[in-house]
Amino acid sequence: MDVKALYQEVILDHNKKPRNFGILGNASHKAEGHNPLCGDHLSLTLHLEGELVEGIAFQGESCAICKASASMMTASVKGRTRADAETLVQEFRDMAIGKLDPGGPHHLGRLAVFAGVRDLPTRVKCAILPWHTLHAALNSVASTSTEAGDDPMQTTIGDA
Ligand code: ZN
Repeated sequence: MDVKALYQEVILDHNKKPRNFGILGNASHKAEGHNPLCGDHLSLTLHLEGELVEGIAFQGESCAICKASASMMTASVKGRTRADAETLVQEFRDMAIGKLDPGGPHHLGRLAVFAGVRDLPTRVKCAILPWHTLHAALNSVASTSTEAGDDPMQTTIGDA
């Protein structure tokens, strides 16, 4: 299967059956994410046990790319440490903006199907929004926007 076909299949699958869709009742961390350019809006709730992401769920109104990215993000991050989650945030973002070569070393696994968005400038923010919101939640920033001046992604991860 070529990358484009795989990408379409993944987007369709995660839109039909989004993983970890909902709101956690026992959330220890949460954030809202907005992408005004597309109208995407996500509510992300996390439950951390020490350094481990024990639970994660998302809800909201978003386009297919954003929803698929959010669904795959929750599945990738669940059960991992906060540090691993931050590594994925950085790598996904770098891949989406074309800074990371999906053929090179990374930890993204199947998330690499999103590498194609770098050729679709209007969709990059849709794909990044869930990761952006995850970064905000992990760093206790309650609300984030892809268009905000205080964009948490502009600060070096680890400094926050
Ligand atoms: Zn979108």
